[in-house]
Amino acid sequence: MTKSDTAYQIDVILRKILAHAQSISCDDCYDVLDKYADMLRAGKDPSIILPGVKEHLIACGDCGDEFKALIAILETSSAPDTSNT
Ligand SMILES: [Zn+2]
Repeated sequence: MTKSDTAYQIDVILRKILAHAQSISCDDCYDVLDKYADMLRAGKDPSIILPGVKEHLIACGDCGDEFKALIAILETSSAPDTSNT
């Protein structure tokens, strides 16, 4: 087994542990995703009132991508709007 194989296996195991440790489902995650993003952008720590979301975003590629897309939309919409005159 090469070193990169070991690193990969550790990564897989960590993801499984994280996926198991968090108890929220994709639906739960999706429901609070905008709130989670708002809190993050406000400089607060959303994991205090939304435990498991961060772990889910790390463990779940689909929700992680969804979260990144949401952040991108929020970043765009919060920019000064000069095009809609
Ligand atoms: Zn998910």
